[in-house]
Amino acid sequence: YAKQNGRNQFAFYFDDLKIDSKRVLLLDNELRKAIKQNDFTLNFQPKISLEDETVIGMEALIRWTNDQLGFVSPAEFIPYAEETGLIIPMSECVFRLACEAHLRLREEMDNVLPIAINISSIHFHQSDFIDTVKMIFEAYNCSPQDFELELTERTVMNNERDSIRKLVQLKNMGFKLSIDDFGTGYSSLSYLVQFPLDYLKIDRSFIQYITSIADKQAVVDAIIQMAHRLHMKVIAEGVEQKDQVKLLEKLGCDMIQGYYYAKPMPLDEFVAFLEFWKLKAREDLK
Ligand code: C2E
Ligand code: MG
Ligand code: MG
Ligand code: MG
Repeated sequence: YAKQNGRNQFAFYFDDLKIDSKRVLLLDNELRKAIKQNDFTLNFQPKISLEDETVIGMEALIRWTNDQLGFVSPAEFIPYAEETGLIIPMSECVFRLACEAHLRLREEMDNVLPIAINISSIHFHQSDFIDTVKMIFEAYNCSPQDFELELTERTVMNNERDSIRKLVQLKNMGFKLSIDDFGTGYSSLSYLVQFPLDYLKIDRSFIQYITSIADKQAVVDAIIQMAHRLHMKVIAEGVEQKDQVKLLEKLGCDMIQGYYYAKPMPLDEFVAFLEFWKLKAREDLK
């Protein structure tokens, strides 16, 4: 009986694999098509200043909906694109979309907000990364001053010398630089000081339990103090509750990003959100 049971499990195992390999094949095919056809879009999530609750920036997040696969999460297709090298043309597509978004905002608004772009480690460590970025920005007549780049600890720690050289170049071009998902890698802040960074984004995994687990709060407190001493501003990621906002404000955090204020949204909605936010600020003053 045990043997039979074992066999069944074995069969199940193969069934799962079959489904998975089918999905991978489909994903691979559809992703290649999407890259050729520029089938991606960007959503934008506001970054809110804790000082006066104004919107001071926006993060671009890639979105992909496919006829056959439906909505596919970046958590699924980005790692796959990184494994296969497809991330390089995909990232170039993201840069172009971000430039297009910036040009639209420039037409529609007096003050344009800086757009933050997420950078894949694979893309960043290509030898022609800087040249490609320059070329795209020149083609769109966009200035790096209006953009930020988000890189993870792991990205900059991998091949440090190459990273420092590139980060200095990007900084000199005018980009603001952020460390994304801070706390999930293995680096220390004292180590990160060798890179020319402007912002530190504390990962959601710390923020999530900040009001319930004392240790998490202590870590966030320490990160904020130290980042400030090192002349970096701090953004808390994944803030969902008012209690978290209050606590982060008390701890001296500079900026907030999270569902509490707004989810990532298409550009049209984002522009409407900005209008709503300005009206709300006026109402609050009354
Ligand atoms: P990330 O850069 O750390 O982005 C933050 C993620 O958290 C986004 O997920 C965002 O939608 C989500 N988020 C924001 N606020 C909240 C909140 O309050 N609660 C919760 N639960 N989640 C929140 P998304 O868009 O699925 O992206 C996931 C990751 O995929 C990103 O993490 C980034 O590493 C990567 N990614 C997204 N877009 C791009 C891109 O254009 N290029 C590259 N290379 N990577 C990207
Ligand atoms: Mg990010
Ligand atoms: Mg992050
Ligand atoms: Mg993340």
